[in-house]
Amino acid sequence: MTLETLNKEIIQCRKCPRLVQWREEVARVKRKAYKDQEYWGKPVPGFGDPQARVLVVGLAPGAHGSNRTGRNFTGDASGGFLFPALHRAGFANQAEAESRSDGLILKDMYITASGRCAPPDNKPSPEELNNCQPYLEREIQIIQPKVIVCLGKIAFDRILKIFQVRGLKFSHGALYPIHPSSFIIHPLFLLCSYHPSQQNTLTGKLTIKMFDEIWVKAKQLAGKEK
Ligand code: SF4
Repeated sequence: MTLETLNKEIIQCRKCPRLVQWREEVARVKRKAYKDQEYWGKPVPGFGDPQARVLVVGLAPGAHGSNRTGRNFTGDASGGFLFPALHRAGFANQAEAESRSDGLILKDMYITASGRCAPPDNKPSPEELNNCQPYLEREIQIIQPKVIVCLGKIAFDRILKIFQVRGLKFSHGALYPIHPSSFIIHPLFLLCSYHPSQQNTLTGKLTIKMFDEIWVKAKQLAGKEK
């Protein structure tokens, strides 16, 4: 299976009734500032370089961010913090991410999420995340990354569940080796970062410097022989 085929499947998914209802309602009602735009209103597939050595896993689409634009972290405050950092680190050709046609190209990186549909209050239920997990598993199998960067604890817990690893603790900058399994042929590194949500960036819990260090580390690890 290719990423293209997988993404076509993801976009049509209606496995979670609560999320299908929410994502479509948000797309219909819209936020005032975006009332002239056509919302995506569907599951948001991953995007980036199919040959990526670095896979980034986020939480889930924002109601008026990627549920509007159809691309992860695009058109919201989290993306406004993430893409400038990726640009500084050389993973993105530009710092701006406003729409699917804004010319953004990722190099050596693929960005995906634990859940593909915008959840009410940004909180997918455990059952909804379980429903969505097979898509993430298949992305990992296809991409075979050398590094997975987990943005936030929910993404970290999901990756641990996929690799059936217990007892690892989430903290910003934590780094763990993961051994080959049914999903990955080669060992890989799991690197943790706080999520670049406003809750973290406006409070100073996640600073630009702290975030830049994550991407420098990811780059080093991707080039490292294990
Ligand atoms: S969250 Fe995932 S499993 Fe649930 S409807 Fe969306 S794409 Fe499907």
